[in-house]
Amino acid sequence: MEMKILVLNCGSSSVKFQLIETSPEQIASNQDRLLARGTVDKIGTGEAIVAYEVPGKTKTKFSREILEHKAAIKTVVSALTDPLAGVIAKPEEIEGVGHRIVHGGEYFTGSVEMEEAVVKQIEDIIDLAPLHNPHNLKGYYASRALFPGAAQVAVFDTAFHHTMPPEAHLYGLPYVLYTRYKIRRYGFHGTSHRYVSYRFAQIHSTTRAEYKLITCHLGNGCSMCAIDHGKSVDTTMGFTPLEGLMMGTRSGDLDPAAVLYVMANEDLSAAEVSSLLNKHSGLYGVSGISNDMRTLLEESRKGQARARLAVDLFCYRAKKHLGALYAALNGADAVIFTGGIGENAPAVRAQICDRLDALGIQIDTEKNEAATGVESNISDAGAATQVWVIPTNEELLIARDTLRTILKIPHG
Ligand code: ADP
Repeated sequence: MEMKILVLNCGSSSVKFQLIETSPEQIASNQDRLLARGTVDKIGTGEAIVAYEVPGKTKTKFSREILEHKAAIKTVVSALTDPLAGVIAKPEEIEGVGHRIVHGGEYFTGSVEMEEAVVKQIEDIIDLAPLHNPHNLKGYYASRALFPGAAQVAVFDTAFHHTMPPEAHLYGLPYVLYTRYKIRRYGFHGTSHRYVSYRFAQIHSTTRAEYKLITCHLGNGCSMCAIDHGKSVDTTMGFTPLEGLMMGTRSGDLDPAAVLYVMANEDLSAAEVSSLLNKHSGLYGVSGISNDMRTLLEESRKGQARARLAVDLFCYRAKKHLGALYAALNGADAVIFTGGIGENAPAVRAQICDRLDALGIQIDTEKNEAATGVESNISDAGAATQVWVIPTNEELLIARDTLRTILKIPHG
């Protein structure tokens, strides 16, 4: 019952793809196979960059004119069917296409086949995620034309958080803003939080229903999630991905009055202030150097004060949110770090977990240092709350959900 599933993640000027072979048996034994993966960047220019690899075989990179997403996905098809790469002989071998869709609003509580009514609902809520959903949909329109025989499945970043209770998902605003505009907390990175919590349970040969977990996705975008016996009960991102933790270029939480004050004094439009908060703040804004944690750690080791300040702010804020989610859950069995920073930066994990022994959190320095990009338990042997590193794999979960949607079996 193996199927080849193409996973598409389309941004404003990029397409990321993976071709994955999966089946219920492969999911159960964690043996799904990555057949190819790659990216098309700088779409809309004469110098788009196409890069892909067939694991263990070939790596290819070239530049050419690609003006829109459909042309980019056509290029992906040529790459996959290239006889030299030997991945697939014809596009018809792809039985399902899984689309990463950022926002599912209140409509979607899980992954679904993209029938006409579903696509219409996604189109209806475009204004909830104007920076993401329109591009995600471009991938769908192109894919429907290029793979007419394949099932198209939508996997939403927000869906996992639909179980958040009202006290976690509403704001302290006039209720009419919720009923009129659906202003509420949705949460994002659901695919990643869901994947690492599933993996944690699988490593322990049981199910997520056994545990209370705090998952920390620290990448360019950062969020944490409180998972109570398999269900998301709170998360740090809200109406948009701007809320919560400080991130690469996003501010995270702040007093909304500060924004109004800056708007008035600098004469900024809504679009300008959105760019300020989303693209010029966070690690980048504080340090004035970079949004890249690697660079900032290096610079702070050399004594660069603003780089140190940015890292300190990042870690302190993460620690506070971790404490808040611990309270929301009334304790946790484990804290899981994932994402580019969570997986690869022992210094950041150590700083976040430092002086959290009141919550039973104590990491083992050697185990922490040794854990870069690999699944491992980094907690001190005697600690009450385990701390783990589990690399995320959102594309794999999208492929698995696509298969399960086609086969009409529970999503797990
Ligand atoms: P995205 O959210 O765009 O998927 P990633 O999950 O790849 O991003 O995370 C990117 C972040 O991870 C960057 O801040 C990068 O500096 C950081 N990162 C990656 N590798 C390391 C490393 N070895 N040490 C410290 N930070 C790292």
